[in-house]
Amino acid sequence: SETITVGELAKRMGVKANDLIRVLMKMGLMATINHPLDVDTATLLATEFGYEIENVAVDLDEMMETTPDAPESLVKRSPVVTIMGHVDHGKTSLLDAIREANVIAGEAGGITQHIGAYDVELNGRKITFLDTPGHEAFTAMRARGAKVTDIVILVVAADDGVMPQTREAINHSKAAGVPIIVAINKIDKPEAKPERVKQELTEHGLVSEEWGGDTTMVEVSAKKRLNLEELLEMVLLQADVMDLKANPDKEARGTIVEAKLDKGRGPVATVLVQEGTLKLGDYCVVGIHSGRVRAMQNDRGDKVVEAGPAMPVEVIGLSGVPDAGDIFVAMKDEKQAKEIATLRQIKQREVELAKHSKLSLEQLYEKI
Ligand code: GDP
Ligand code: MG
Repeated sequence: SETITVGELAKRMGVKANDLIRVLMKMGLMATINHPLDVDTATLLATEFGYEIENVAVDLDEMMETTPDAPESLVKRSPVVTIMGHVDHGKTSLLDAIREANVIAGEAGGITQHIGAYDVELNGRKITFLDTPGHEAFTAMRARGAKVTDIVILVVAADDGVMPQTREAINHSKAAGVPIIVAINKIDKPEAKPERVKQELTEHGLVSEEWGGDTTMVEVSAKKRLNLEELLEMVLLQADVMDLKANPDKEARGTIVEAKLDKGRGPVATVLVQEGTLKLGDYCVVGIHSGRVRAMQNDRGDKVVEAGPAMPVEVIGLSGVPDAGDIFVAMKDEKQAKEIATLRQIKQREVELAKHSKLSLEQLYEKI
């Protein structure tokens, strides 16, 4: 493809070659005046110097494009579940109960890490739970175009019934096209009225299977650990119906579930891998950041060297802290990863600049 030297580009833009070289260094590229630049890099530089480049967005899309998976490359994957429901109906209790029951049954003395997601095993099959309950995480991710949840478990307390956030959860799930399994919780309580809950849910389009509808409802107690296994079985049944599949044999793509800045380890992010397999040493782009996977650990704190579809994994090695809902893309080419991240930073800066200039314009009108 076409190239242009640093010197030529500087001349055309009317800037000093040394200034260009300095910007290139910031981008991680050591260059001399005779260094040839490809179109993408030249575009980047020109944008840095305030030149309007029309095809930036196109370049970005092209870089991120993927080819569709051949049907024979698709392999069965585990379902990803989010627990939703009204405050105090038992979301956290249910998440903890499911996890603890599984850890106890699974491995002795397993110390669990809170990385924003975990998986449990039932009859040799896995289910991944996003353990940031509540609607914020779900809606924040949806707002960013991320689709991570396959199935929603809607928790409704049997002693309280359908409440505002129950309705909200139903609406969110329906809008996202995600099937709902209802967990009628707190059935250990004397004042529990599961039949009334079922009745109320019919008013929101959720009719229990035993009443001739198609919504699975399981009566559970997070506190007394009643029917938890049955609930998980229903999740697996639903997953079978959905025939969830992914191609594990390619570079990974996923979504950030949780991220933070750790004093000792730097940016730490939990990636839910959705397709492909993430490997130690992979380069990646996440939102406006790039990086290299230097270490990975699972929700039990074990070091892992790779993570396939539906596996949540904590990753170290990013250049910054991404946002929950950011798309994670692994790539073999370090330069490309850095370029895309830089392009995105430029775009973000442009958007911010546009906001500021709009603001000053408004302020100007105010004064007139
Ligand atoms: P969240 O706000 O939906 O996360 O609800 P929590 O898990 O924090 O539970 C709210 C309260 O309900 C806590 O006091 C729990 O101990 C209690 N709770 C949760 N599940 C059960 C249950 O199955 N039975 C009883 N009796 N109490 C429960
Ligand atoms: Mg809670």
